[in-house]
Amino acid sequence: MRQHKLALCKEHYLEWVPEQTERFIRKYGMFGHDDKILVAVSGGKDSLSLWDILVRLGYQADGLYIGLGIDAGIGYSSESHRLAEKFANDHNLKLQVVDIEKEYGQPIPVLAQISHRGHGKPCAVCGLTKRHVMNRIARDLGYDVLATGHNLDDEAAVLFGNTLSWSVEYLLRQGPVLPSADGLARKAKPLCRLYEREMTAYAILRGIEYIYEECPFAEGSTSIYYKEVLNRLENDRPGAKLTFYLRFLEARQTGLFAESKEPADYLHPCSNCGQATSAPGLCSFCRLIEKVADQAPLVSNL
Ligand code: SF4
Repeated sequence: MRQHKLALCKEHYLEWVPEQTERFIRKYGMFGHDDKILVAVSGGKDSLSLWDILVRLGYQADGLYIGLGIDAGIGYSSESHRLAEKFANDHNLKLQVVDIEKEYGQPIPVLAQISHRGHGKPCAVCGLTKRHVMNRIARDLGYDVLATGHNLDDEAAVLFGNTLSWSVEYLLRQGPVLPSADGLARKAKPLCRLYEREMTAYAILRGIEYIYEECPFAEGSTSIYYKEVLNRLENDRPGAKLTFYLRFLEARQTGLFAESKEPADYLHPCSNCGQATSAPGLCSFCRLIEKVADQAPLVSNL
């Protein structure tokens, strides 16, 4: 780990990662040992490693797998579901499963075609749907906090994009922990200071079986492009990504965006599902589902 000027053997590396994660959980006040945690697991290395780490640290953590219905010729969703189930079974853990097609009538690629959001890619609809479902399950099943496996590379790429466009509203919402608000569960990102390659090493050394393929729709995405740019920077200046992210968190704390509106100032409950939204009346997800219901007769022809 060039950025820390640190090299560890397998045994010590597998201790170091949970120790660091525990340190970040405490530093940012993410949750405690009495909290019921719901870990969003995609079948990928980060989310399965996070679940593994939290359990090793003695936290009460169940998993949530959301079946997106993405096949794209490689059976992406069915394979990721299999690996999430396998991890849960191997470790005797509880996995909540939500299948989007069963719940909402159509898989993500079809919902995206109906909504026409995202210019051909289903990512906008997929993100919207995942956020809604994660919140709903966390709230309905009485979890205190929703934990996601976002690593430092994910966070730095999002920060880079939001900084390029100075999207203050999004910058205000980015952080290691977001407190619960009306209709929204508390969210925590315990891996936010660990590099993607550190998490890959952890998953491999722990023998965690995860899906190697990226979602087929991720190809050519802006976030992957930002990650590549930041990787080039990191290669020349080890620690650049970490410094970029940590300095941002410090700037937020010292009130860099003090005059901007806090999310709570412009959010209100959706009139249908009760989750917080900035849109008047229905939230974007409920509007999407309403549109799908209206177009149900046409869907069979897609
Ligand atoms: Fe969803 Fe795949 Fe897009 Fe990620 S890349 S948001 S999983 S469709």
